[in-house]
Amino acid sequence: MRANHRMQRLFVEAALGEAAEIEPNPKQAHYLLNVLRLRAGAELLVFNGHDGEWLAGIAEAGKKRLRLVARAQTRPQPPAADLVYCFAPLKQGRLDYMVQKAVEMGAGHLQPVLTHHTQAARVPRHRLEANVVEAAEQCGVLALPTVGEPLGLDALLAGWDAARRLVFCDEAAEGDNPLEALQAIAERRLALLVGPEGGFSDAERARLAAMPSVTAIPLGPRILRADTAAVAALALIQATVGDW
Ligand code: SAH
Repeated sequence: MRANHRMQRLFVEAALGEAAEIEPNPKQAHYLLNVLRLRAGAELLVFNGHDGEWLAGIAEAGKKRLRLVARAQTRPQPPAADLVYCFAPLKQGRLDYMVQKAVEMGAGHLQPVLTHHTQAARVPRHRLEANVVEAAEQCGVLALPTVGEPLGLDALLAGWDAARRLVFCDEAAEGDNPLEALQAIAERRLALLVGPEGGFSDAERARLAAMPSVTAIPLGPRILRADTAAVAALALIQATVGDW
């Protein structure tokens, strides 16, 4: 059942249940009161990542504060998505975009991977998490993906769970069409790896190619930007072996 994309959706920390009271934080209150100009009696959808989605009404609206009351659950809490999205962090604006697209496309865990050519030195976790919430609010994702601490590629691969198939987007892969390789995947537990703007080093490519859990795929005859490659690969995976 797809989410109601017409109503305003808000991520809240409060536990949600019949008649649960919710006090949005100051930033959210400002948005509801001054940007959306909502008043007492208005309704919106709220979720907290655990209790599903609830219809809530504005019980009282002051100048800077408002109180919501949860009325009825509109969608049950779905299981967490299992797709692990491994990515070399990009420069901030593109990173924001890429994280939001991964959430919309159904990633269950976002794993920053530091590779030889990765440009972004720091990966601000709070910023990644803010992007997760923003994408979830916009697209009705109720099971929020978790965000991992950045790992070097060697560390990521050293601890790799052999039961999880890692689809490696290899800009140097043979051929152009990934469908055959993807449709040959038997595992239900999946992960995706997209490199940095500078691509993977030969040593990294060799290390990945040597892993039995890894399936290298091409993404067409052109070199895509990393954030384009992320969305293209997520669509291909979801449509062949994922949840589409
Ligand atoms: N600078 C590199 C390209 C890096 S593109 C070069 O010129 O070769 C950034 C990442 O997007 C790559 O590491 C890869 O994961 C993915 N990607 C981009 N185009 C791709 C393609 N045609 N096939 C497979 N992966 C691709």
